[in-house]
Amino acid sequence: MIRINENYLKLQASYLFSDIARRVAAFQRENPGREIIRLGIGDVTRALPPTCIKAFHQAVDEMADDRTFRGYGPEQGYLFLREKIAAEDFQARGADISPDEIFISDGAKCDTGNIQEIFAIDIEIAIPDPVYPVYLDTNVMAGRTGKYKDGRYDKIRYLEGTWENGFVPDLPEEPVDLIYLCFPNNPTGATITRDRLRSWVEYARENRALILYDAAYEAFIRDDALPRSVYEIEGAREVALEFRSFSKTAGFTGTRCAYTVVPRTCEAYDRNGQKHSLHALWNRRHSTKFNGVSYPVQKAAEAVYSKEGKAQVKELIDYYLRNAALIRKEMCSLGFQCLGGENSPYIWVDGRMDSWRFFDRLLEKAGVVCTPGSGFGKCGQGFIRISAFNSFENVQKAMAGIKMALAE
Ligand code: PLP
Repeated sequence: MIRINENYLKLQASYLFSDIARRVAAFQRENPGREIIRLGIGDVTRALPPTCIKAFHQAVDEMADDRTFRGYGPEQGYLFLREKIAAEDFQARGADISPDEIFISDGAKCDTGNIQEIFAIDIEIAIPDPVYPVYLDTNVMAGRTGKYKDGRYDKIRYLEGTWENGFVPDLPEEPVDLIYLCFPNNPTGATITRDRLRSWVEYARENRALILYDAAYEAFIRDDALPRSVYEIEGAREVALEFRSFSKTAGFTGTRCAYTVVPRTCEAYDRNGQKHSLHALWNRRHSTKFNGVSYPVQKAAEAVYSKEGKAQVKELIDYYLRNAALIRKEMCSLGFQCLGGENSPYIWVDGRMDSWRFFDRLLEKAGVVCTPGSGFGKCGQGFIRISAFNSFENVQKAMAGIKMALAE
């Protein structure tokens, strides 16, 4: 008899986006012709930078000629891309990362989801609340979380986000082994200061723990005082892995390219306390289960680091940041407390009421779709997330609509 992995039965069905779609569809049926503006999604809306498209086309042409055609590439990614990443994203900012510590992949979602495979089942895991759901669900599937009761898994240490801590979690009171952090944060838009990040790195060093640092939104950081990489913090090379993606940086959500940094100095322990290299383990996992990102996609990603690529990516992010600034300004002017939107594409708004009630109000009165914060965890209750991924014209219209509706 074929049996299933019963950990899957512990997963909580995510009704968030289907519930949103259902409510929006019902509203549309009842209000035909009424314009709806979607500021709920976490997907980019603007085209790839022209220089990426050019490199993409050229690489496709290479694939059309026997003399330049390429079959399987290195599982870890082509050196031409890993060298650019190491030099531009890390060494240029004083972070000591070399090309052979970078693993190219088809997404930070897969990487942040797959990484848990190389750790023991009975470790203590700390996960923020509210959170990008992949960290939690992949640990549920693996059997690390225990039972689900009253909105929480009993073996997870939840790192609670509140207004008081600015949605930057406090250090755990009891020791934990694996810590998920994400800055700039999805869903809250919160950023972490160098000092706070240093305290996490010190915590990990003292407790022989490991930080999984998701920096998928790093390109939105405009405040130079904020760290863009965990490796800007001294001592992080021994206790942190970092996840990055071209998705939000350069519009690659549909093209797929990302990378994970696993420093050679990161070690973890077996049951006898003996040290093992995480680089060796991840290399083994990655090359066994993954066959590399396509050559044209890696060439398109490489173009991000050219002079024109850098300028075009900056313009792309500036565009979304202008949207974010407008959303933040208008929501604040209506008297709401807001977080994010300054070094992040997300604005986290305290609705001062149930998240779904606020969602319904914005939809019914202004035709604007947001995301209820309660869908990201218990601590998200009372908040909504507004996304800056849309056209400036639509954001202007949405904000005018919200202003009129809420002033009534
Ligand atoms: N990490 C965070 C925090 C995200 O919000 C997302 C996408 O929304 C991802 C990772 C996934 O990125 P990718 O498109 O590279 O899979």
